[in-house]
Amino acid sequence: RLEIRDLVRRFDGRAVVDHVSLTIAPGNVTCLLGPSGCGKSTTLRMIAGVEMQDEGTIHVDGNLVCDTVFRIPPERRNIGLMFQDFALFPHLSVGDNVAFGLKGDRAAKRKRAGALLERVGLSHFIDEFPHQLSGGEQQRVALARALAPQPRIMLMDEPFSGLDNRLRDGIRDETLALLKEEGASVLLVTHEPEEAMRMADEIALMRDGQIVQRGAPYNIYNAPADKAAVAFFSDVN
Ligand code: ATP
Ligand code: MG
Repeated sequence: RLEIRDLVRRFDGRAVVDHVSLTIAPGNVTCLLGPSGCGKSTTLRMIAGVEMQDEGTIHVDGNLVCDTVFRIPPERRNIGLMFQDFALFPHLSVGDNVAFGLKGDRAAKRKRAGALLERVGLSHFIDEFPHQLSGGEQQRVALARALAPQPRIMLMDEPFSGLDNRLRDGIRDETLALLKEEGASVLLVTHEPEEAMRMADEIALMRDGQIVQRGAPYNIYNAPADKAAVAFFSDVN
């Protein structure tokens, strides 16, 4: 369970994240949805620990991860990351990419990597190198790599935006199924209403650093909080 409370981040005196609070239960996918520049990535970076908040707290499973004085470093947060430009390591095989964050002996790591690659339908690529895979295949390997250490929290920032339309829906569905199986609390950032509608258990609509509405996709779509939300959703069909 991920709990963020009253997170604030200011740049040059301007709050780009302005008292954002969210709770995400295990196995649930929350989509942080909003226009470019509203503070989505900054929110994610604070949760990942690569950016410090000016105010607020982050808890995982009831344990304090970070406030304004105490801070667990990013690599010890047990958080999986998947970003659009978070590339695979080109000099490592597909299997070693997936095993990268794992502890234990080589055989055990390879076994876990193999099981995840099997799950995303790519086990035959285990000894190949990333450049031999298509964009969609690389994205599935990146997902397997992020999930390999069984993170309690999974943060995804526009993970599908580099894929062509034809591939995207399939990979979204596959990703969702795997995330559900693994049972992490997922925070997925997107500026595409359609993606949020497809993937979210809950949507948090963000604007100018604040969450302006939260709810099930269907409810938000049918009862947007204000005119700006209506306009934002109007390109979903
Ligand atoms: P997009 O959909 O385009 O990725 P976003 O919602 O992820 O947008 P952020 O990247 O969180 O937006 O940025 C929010 C605001 O904070 C923007 O106005 C951005 O210019 C500003 N910002 C982000 N990082 C910094 C920084 N290091 N220094 C100054 N301003 C920053
Ligand atoms: Mg962003």
